[in-house]
Amino acid sequence: MLELLLPQRCVVCGCGGRQLCAGCREELPRLEPPLCARCGAPTVWPVERCRECAGRRLAFASARAAVGYDAAARRFVHAWKERGLRRLATEAAQLVVQRVPPPEVDALTFVPSDRGRRLERGHNPAERLALDLAAAWELPCLPLLERTRGGRQRGSSAAERRTVRGAFRATGPAPRRVAVVDDVYTTGATAAAAASALRKAGARRVEAIAFARASRRG
Ligand SMILES: [Zn+2]
Ligand SMILES: [Zn+2]
Repeated sequence: MLELLLPQRCVVCGCGGRQLCAGCREELPRLEPPLCARCGAPTVWPVERCRECAGRRLAFASARAAVGYDAAARRFVHAWKERGLRRLATEAAQLVVQRVPPPEVDALTFVPSDRGRRLERGHNPAERLALDLAAAWELPCLPLLERTRGGRQRGSSAAERRTVRGAFRATGPAPRRVAVVDDVYTTGATAAAAASALRKAGARRVEAIAFARASRRG
C-alpha cells in the first residue's frame, strides 16, 4: 500500500517517475550469446565449458540469467531485496522472460532464504521471482528446498563456496526436471548446492535461473 502512495524514484539513477526508469531498464547489460552452455558465462565463442566452470562438479545441467551484475544491476537488486519493492520483482521477471528461454522442466522452485533474513525483510526475493516466472511460463512453482543450517554468506567467492556446500535439503520428492530460481548467480556454488539437494530427492535434471549473473570477466 505504502509503495503506491510514496512518490516513485528510479532505484538506479534516482530520477522521478518509475521505480526503474525506461533509460536504466534499457541499459541493464543483457546477457547475450555466445554463452558457456553449462554455466551461462558470456564467452567469446559458444563453448560447452569455460574457465569459470571447467573442472568443477556442478550439479545443475545449465545456468542462465537475464543481465550482468554490473553497478546498475547491483543497485536494482539491493533495492529489490532490502526494500522489498514488489514491482521490482515483476520488472526482474519480465527481463528474465525476455532473455531466458522457458526451461523444459516439470516445475520451478527457488533458493530458500534463511529464517533470519526472511524475518528481517518479510519476503524472499527468489521466491517472488520464481512465482512471477512460473505464472509467465505456465509452470507450477513448488517450495522444494529448505536450509539445513546457518546464514547465507555473500562476502566472497571463497566464503560462498565454503558455506553453501550441503546447505539445502529437499522438503520431499522432487519432480524429474526442475529449474531452481535465485535472484543473483554469484559463483554458482549456491545453485550447485540447491541442484545437488534436488537430485538427491529424485530430480534427474536441474537448471538454474537467475535475474543477474556476476562474471569474472566483469
Ligand atoms: Zn533510472
Ligand atoms: Zn562455464
